[in-house]
Amino acid sequence: MRKDLNESFVRICQFIGRAVPMWNQGAGGNVSVKDNEHLWIKASGRRLDAVSATQGFACVRLPEFHKCFSELKKSANTEADYSQLIRSSSDSSLGRPSMETGFHAVLPGRWVLHFHSLAAILMAEFYFDESKSQKMKSWLKEKLNKSFEFIQNHMPGWSLSHTLSLHPHASVYILQNHGLILQFQDSEDAEKVLEFLKFWQTLEKEFFKDFGLSTVTDEWLQNVQKQPGHLRYLFPDAAVYASQLKSVLQKAPGDSRFQLSNQASLDLREIWWATRVLETLYPQISELDANIVNHVASLPTEKARLGVVRADS
Ligand SMILES: [Zn+2]
Repeated sequence: MRKDLNESFVRICQFIGRAVPMWNQGAGGNVSVKDNEHLWIKASGRRLDAVSATQGFACVRLPEFHKCFSELKKSANTEADYSQLIRSSSDSSLGRPSMETGFHAVLPGRWVLHFHSLAAILMAEFYFDESKSQKMKSWLKEKLNKSFEFIQNHMPGWSLSHTLSLHPHASVYILQNHGLILQFQDSEDAEKVLEFLKFWQTLEKEFFKDFGLSTVTDEWLQNVQKQPGHLRYLFPDAAVYASQLKSVLQKAPGDSRFQLSNQASLDLREIWWATRVLETLYPQISELDANIVNHVASLPTEKARLGVVRADS
């Protein structure tokens, strides 16, 4: 990767990676930058805050990827062929690109940032709720000086990438039960990207206030983290890590709710924490479609992320 891009890449990964649990949980989220014919993207299984100048990224050869991507919709086994394409068009000496690589490759923007913003999940929740849809749309239109699209529940592999390839020109995508995708054009350098991220952080605070939700302070977050709750699939990583989560959840005494045991890993603690935050902010929030939950939990790329199968199998 070019030296200047490399420095910017690390700064942006670190900035997003620090925002736990509101933007990021575990090894989720990914940042990419296009450099001529290459897509550099944070590697699967790597935390955004653990990306460094020499480690934690993967590289995909874009012409090779694009050539086959458009053919995938004719395939009888689209999602599996999509995973295979990501593997075959990437540099095997670097990290492994995640199943979310497709939309980074098909969106034309130089920088593509994707993270599991809890505010964005609630914005989509309101947009797809008929009674709140108009208010949500008008509010965002007034506050945001960029083009945006709301995207309904999608499998986070080929299906989401294919949908975005049909709508490639928005600056902001707000994904139901998933999070946020931002793209920036060639003229926008790393400073502009970081400036927008700070703006978005402020916008999220205003969103909570204007829609009558709790004020999210560090103290509020610490308090929510300690509360017991339910195992709910509110975003894909809760489904990906479901079996691991179940193994470290304990029923609180005399309560139907769960608490995490002390043995839970950092990644699991963050995913549980994010679930608690969403449930506390908006208890009636809808869950991921059951088909998506089952599908995501069984994907080969995601099993590799969990170390269930070898990454090169
Ligand atoms: Zn995601």
